[in-house]
Amino acid sequence: MSGRVLEVEGLVKRFGGLTATDHVTLDLKRGEIHALIGPNGAGKSTLINQLCGELPPDEGEVRIMGRDVTRLGVPERVALGLGRTFQITSLLTEMTVAENIALAVQARRGGNFRLFDRLRGRRDLWAETEALLRGSGLEARADVRVSGLSHGEKKQLELLVALAGKPAFLLLDEPMAGLGHSESQEMVQVLRRIAADVPMLLVEHDMEAVFALATRISVLVYGRIIATGSVEEIRNHPEVREAYLGQEDELC
Ligand code: ADP
Ligand code: MG
Repeated sequence: MSGRVLEVEGLVKRFGGLTATDHVTLDLKRGEIHALIGPNGAGKSTLINQLCGELPPDEGEVRIMGRDVTRLGVPERVALGLGRTFQITSLLTEMTVAENIALAVQARRGGNFRLFDRLRGRRDLWAETEALLRGSGLEARADVRVSGLSHGEKKQLELLVALAGKPAFLLLDEPMAGLGHSESQEMVQVLRRIAADVPMLLVEHDMEAVFALATRISVLVYGRIIATGSVEEIRNHPEVREAYLGQEDELC
């Protein structure tokens, strides 16, 4: 499978006369953080929605773990290894941190324990929940209700909930959105630690975070990928500086 968990080939999405995704080809390999950047309206969310299975493309192909999933919906893609976080929170606010994770672990396993397996099943459930919490920054907050968490803590919990599904890779849509500077720095550490095991395609506006994290960066402008490369290559790419940022100092 050549180490590629996600492959996108020649993807096209049109909204009337507008081509929001214009022959996009990209992939995600094991061990990498592939950042997708681009100005507002470039087509990042439209692309992510097609990768999740929420929006059918007009042309092209999406493969997960080598399997063609272009015509499959969200649950089938999740079953094949897709993990994601949502821009709108999916947490249960009246439940605790640990309960939210345990529910996600449970959802992955399905509820089909035979009666005599239940006790062991429950013990395994909490063991796995504790393992996810360990060293996560939320370990000491396990019994706090979500409604009592800071915004940054909620973002971290969303990641743990996604990881509870044991995904082969993660699609992250702006995990830094709304975070303060120190919370962003903390999130960078968290993402770096996770990426050692779970590769991620990261849509993010915070360029400091992107430059700190990305193994590879692709730049989307008017639905087209105009450049893919290392942090250094993208920083120094004339077309990227001009088309995407306009102001040179933003890239420094
Ligand atoms: P980004 O996430 O990079 O800001 P989007 O993917 O949200 O960009 O939008 C890309 C372009 O597609 C924009 O011009 C937007 O107005 C248009 N667009 C997005 N969704 C729809 C839709 N459902 N119908 C019509 N146009 C859309
Ligand atoms: Mg968007």
